[in-house]
Amino acid sequence: MKLPNYLADKWVEGAGPGTPLVDPVTGDELARISSEGADLKTALDFARTQGGPALGQLTYGQRAEMLAKIGEVLTANREEYFRLSLLNLGATQADASFDVDGALYTMKYYAKIGRALAEGKMLKEGAPLSLSKTGVFGAQHFLTPAKGVAVFINAFNFPAWGFCEKAAPALLSGVPVLVKPASPTAWLAHRMVEDVVKSGILPPGAVSLVCGSARELLDHVREEDIISFTGSADTAARVRSHTSVLRRSVRVNIEADSINSAILGPDCAPASDLFDLLVKEVLKEVSIKAGQKCTTIRRIFAPRQTVKALGEAVSSRLNTTKVGNPRHSDVKVGPVVNKAQQAACLEGLKKLQSECSVVFGGNDHFAPVDADPQKSAFVQPTLLSSNDGLRSQYVHDVEVFGPVMTLIAYLSPKDLIPMVRRGRGSLVASVFSNDPAFLQEVALGIGDLHGRIVAVDSTVGSQHTGHGNVVPSCLHGGPGRAGGGEELAGLRAVLLYHRRFVVQGPVHYLKDLSNSSIDANLLYS
Ligand code: NAP
Repeated sequence: MKLPNYLADKWVEGAGPGTPLVDPVTGDELARISSEGADLKTALDFARTQGGPALGQLTYGQRAEMLAKIGEVLTANREEYFRLSLLNLGATQADASFDVDGALYTMKYYAKIGRALAEGKMLKEGAPLSLSKTGVFGAQHFLTPAKGVAVFINAFNFPAWGFCEKAAPALLSGVPVLVKPASPTAWLAHRMVEDVVKSGILPPGAVSLVCGSARELLDHVREEDIISFTGSADTAARVRSHTSVLRRSVRVNIEADSINSAILGPDCAPASDLFDLLVKEVLKEVSIKAGQKCTTIRRIFAPRQTVKALGEAVSSRLNTTKVGNPRHSDVKVGPVVNKAQQAACLEGLKKLQSECSVVFGGNDHFAPVDADPQKSAFVQPTLLSSNDGLRSQYVHDVEVFGPVMTLIAYLSPKDLIPMVRRGRGSLVASVFSNDPAFLQEVALGIGDLHGRIVAVDSTVGSQHTGHGNVVPSCLHGGPGRAGGGEELAGLRAVLLYHRRFVVQGPVHYLKDLSNSSIDANLLYS
């Protein structure tokens, strides 16, 4: 079976043998994909000339209703998405829920906040300004939806959420979307797009799908388009420096890789509530999607006197965590996505091991539950301990995109903060401490290099949303190595698909251009 592309309102099968999609537990081939021969230029033109104008005729409120209906259609097919997640990603129920339920929730969330924008077609930003003596001539800033295509190039780890979290704000803005899921796990995004297309909710050209290589897609992007890329820093650099992107100043939002941190405060003794909460969080992070989340904790910083106890506590939990075929309900950690990712993880692990000791795991030949190690793509959950965090190179630099974390000892905030900063820009750091001065010092010391900081003290306890959990009301993205992009944060994501401009003119004319303002309460609602 070859999964077709959906371009210019038609399902088109790519040429050639295609790329196989495999089950990472059995190694069985599931389907093939190919974008060979697909006319990507015509697809983008069709989206701009058909999809965009059809969406643009509607108000924000009407498009919000469309998102609500899409949310219902996707919810009705939830079980099928779980099935495909199991087959193509080796997802446990918890893994599938993280991706699929996160996708459904985000789609419905944007339907809800989009309704508040109601009737307008363009958004007023800020107050009117007077530019004349008598006030007859003034200025108003506006945000108008882009008339191009939102091109989504996505990573393999979140085929469902990656599609919905980008498509929801773009469609709400009236911008057609073209999604290119990562090849190894394209099936789930393919199925979601197929369900949306079949439902007839969206006008022709509002959604397009490329399964397989992006080929020369970026040659055809234009100034009205927006590229939203999620993936590795290396590919991000290629996208950012593409000739068409540079020459035509195409806007690019990048979510790339990240060496995220969890920090245990000096006040948290072994077996204290916050110590235990951190251990729980580390276990969750290493288990969900087998550590294949952009937000996963990669470095765990702990006071020198606590590192050993923390290592023992995490190890004893890892020791009883079942790793293997996710068809068994007691399995908590599934495989990585394919043999290539497994090899990349093991290679990265070797680099980390050159400057760390192994606290738990690290066995290339471990035996997963009910899976053939020759055919499957498992990585043993591994906890390392850095021999010298200040002098280490790799622990601050190598992202092993799997269930691998490193413990790093610190003496005081004076050495902790520079070490955290050596991640060179991350999506998230979580800090567990009851000392407000420590929380503040760390937040002020690392905030400029992080998109999100999760501070947990005893008053919060287990009520925090989670180190790795991205909620649509809050900012997702990070500076530097993390790509420099910004997503979600409520209505703020909608602004990404708009262009800001100012009209200077007669004040009565400015008033009539749009009734709809950005409600500041919705920006981060
Ligand atoms: P990747 O290899 O960089 O691929 C990402 C996407 O780019 C895929 O769709 C890929 O297509 C496409 N691509 C590759 N070369 C391209 C080119 N020359 N032009 C246009 N597109 C191209 O990343 P991945 O292995 O799928 O994902 C894992 C990485 O993503 C990790 O480093 C992780 O940290 C990061 N990530 C970040 C976030 C975030 O929100 N910050 C979220 C998830 C993942 P093919 O698959 O067809 O090659």
